[in-house]
Amino acid sequence: MLKIYNTYIHIPFCERKCNYCDFTSLKGSDNQIEKYVNYLLKEIDIYSKEYDLSEKQDTIYFGGGTPSLLPIDSLEKILSKFSYDKNTEITIEVNPKTVDINKLKGYKKLGINRLSIGIQTFDNDKF
Ligand code: SF4
Repeated sequence: MLKIYNTYIHIPFCERKCNYCDFTSLKGSDNQIEKYVNYLLKEIDIYSKEYDLSEKQDTIYFGGGTPSLLPIDSLEKILSKFSYDKNTEITIEVNPKTVDINKLKGYKKLGINRLSIGIQTFDNDKF
């Protein structure tokens, strides 16, 4: 069984779709995001029959889309499917508009230790 040490998890939702964007992403409602997370958890279970996900992960990367749209409890459910410790590099792509101090504290508590911050503009009139 192939052992997996590095995992990329795609969260294909954004607050809105930027017209220049080629990534797989769409504007998602809370309901769609919750549904997606539930299917993602099932898919991880299916993959774990074919791939060994029990090894401690070197890296886990939440990309998108805008994974920072996910509530903390969804991230917790996803991470609970993997083995990791404080040496695992866990990254989440963040739109600064979608996080506050509580969410950042939640990330830290979950072991997320790296933020990838995307900024389209520093001009509020263009946002
Ligand atoms: S926020 Fe990023 S991923 Fe989302 S639509 Fe815009 S460019 Fe694409």
